[in-house]
Amino acid sequence: MAPPQIYTSPYPNVPILTTSIFTRLFASRGDDIGGFPGSCKAFVDATSGASITRAQLRHLSLTLAYGLKHHPNTSQFANRGSTVLIYSPNSLAWPVVLFGSVAAGLRCTLANSAYTSHELAFQYSDSGAKLIFTTEDGLAVVRSMFAESGIGKDDADMRIIVIGNDLRWAGGPSAPRSPATAGLLRMEDLLGKGELKQEEKFEGPLANQTVYLCYSSGTTGKPKGVETTHQNMTTLVDIVRAVFPTLNADTDNMLGILPFYHIYGVAKLLHFPFTCGCPVIIQTRFDPVQFCAVIEKYKVTISLVVPPVLVVLSRHPAVEQYDLSSLQVLFSGAAPLGHSLVKSVKDRLLSKRKGQNPLGITQGYGLTETSPTTHLLPIPDADHKMGSIGILLPNLEARLVDDDAGKVDARTGEPGELWIRGKTVMKGYLNNTTATKNSITPDGWFKTGDVAIRDQEGFYYIVDRRKELIKYKGFQVPPAELENVLLTHPDIADVAVIGLESIKEATELPRAYIVHANPDKVKTAKAQLEFAQSVVKWIETKVARHKFLRGGVGIIDVVPKSAAGKILRRELRELSKQQAERG
Ligand code: AMP
Repeated sequence: MAPPQIYTSPYPNVPILTTSIFTRLFASRGDDIGGFPGSCKAFVDATSGASITRAQLRHLSLTLAYGLKHHPNTSQFANRGSTVLIYSPNSLAWPVVLFGSVAAGLRCTLANSAYTSHELAFQYSDSGAKLIFTTEDGLAVVRSMFAESGIGKDDADMRIIVIGNDLRWAGGPSAPRSPATAGLLRMEDLLGKGELKQEEKFEGPLANQTVYLCYSSGTTGKPKGVETTHQNMTTLVDIVRAVFPTLNADTDNMLGILPFYHIYGVAKLLHFPFTCGCPVIIQTRFDPVQFCAVIEKYKVTISLVVPPVLVVLSRHPAVEQYDLSSLQVLFSGAAPLGHSLVKSVKDRLLSKRKGQNPLGITQGYGLTETSPTTHLLPIPDADHKMGSIGILLPNLEARLVDDDAGKVDARTGEPGELWIRGKTVMKGYLNNTTATKNSITPDGWFKTGDVAIRDQEGFYYIVDRRKELIKYKGFQVPPAELENVLLTHPDIADVAVIGLESIKEATELPRAYIVHANPDKVKTAKAQLEFAQSVVKWIETKVARHKFLRGGVGIIDVVPKSAAGKILRRELRELSKQQAERG
């Protein structure tokens, strides 16, 4: 048998450190923190302008780590290797909470800040978390999550750490403490009591220990904890650098709107710019007017986005009302990016610049399971290779395979499932050896579930997705998870969820095909419509916003399944196309 066709990066391998990600980022020598002066700004709160320098961030993190290890509420839960859950939208406190926990040697599981108590309860218990950082706004959900998990109020209150709105610890404005937080520990209470002399170390083989647990459904099934190690993250920062647009510590700043709880946010907003000395302006969530206003105010040079943000930039009037001429790079990821979208954003933004200041719009590709980036499209190639996810990063290997066993390579230039091998591939799925074995071969190849083509110059194009996953605006919507929720509806006998492609919104929209428990009740078109609308409303009370059935509900007689009982989603996708054509 011919040896497998293994592709490597056109870039030479780079040396990788085997340390904790904290040590990699914050190694200090005199006033220098991680290669740049400690007095340089690291993170800025877009709204208040409050900021923390690199030296402050290191100090605050080590102080928080000390507080976690010594406070009577938290010390029992803050041993090396324990897990802490972070449930919060982006804020200036986020990097402190994350790096403080990492410095304390904890594993951080990062939850979507829009999760319902039920979704949060699953992640809290599955990850084995004990402590939970949340905001005042998140408190109600956290409290019902504990109640749902059978943890009494007093016990629950010992595990909660509230991230308040008071930014005095960062030289920012004060804010009154909400009465709802009375009696609870706040992040500020853990600061200022002492500083850990040094972070918990993960040197050599210990760098293979897990540091982050983000949740991903992978190719099939419900969300699973992805064990991302220190080594995964130290590798990523250095391999990305080889291809990512150069960030200049003196002149660049990055706008951070992507959620920090997604590994894309962790890697590209919290880690990577820090290693370049580039400050990140933090915005809590994407709002088109605020986005443009912040670019003008802070003269932002680079922003990481997802395709739906580009859709907004191609149309929203705010783009005309603010000066966006400082923006040099828009970097998209997490979902497919089409040429026409890139072209329309570029044309629109450049039309105001009269030939001055170029703008590059480019993209990267990867998965939670690959920490995340495996491919990047270099800016100089962005125009002539539009639509490509770019080239393979150094130190990684790729295959394009034609069969599940990996025995047959796709023919040159033909599509095949993309497999990745290298030090950014996760350790595995937490407590799930079956899922791990199904996704990582014994010789270390991770099966992405995406189908790609590689051109002769080594540029890759994603052409299909073999796995079940749906992505709404960059967020994962695992069909199996939604199906499980829908099956608790008393009128639903069977269901299958698929993604509808919306070119207009540059995303997929989850759509459910339902078998009614009493088909006689949905015989007429009117009854079907009413039932479909009621299910769309019902699901909104059960799941986070990104999982709403924006693609609607269709009524069918039977869910198509293989002999083995596997849902034949391709057939339903075909059906949805036919229905769309018929209008
Ligand atoms: P996640 O683990 O949430 O980051 O989702 C990973 C999945 O997002 C991949 O397996 C792809 O299906 C999709 N994805 C990420 N980046 C891109 C991209 N640039 N183009 C196409 N699909 C992408």
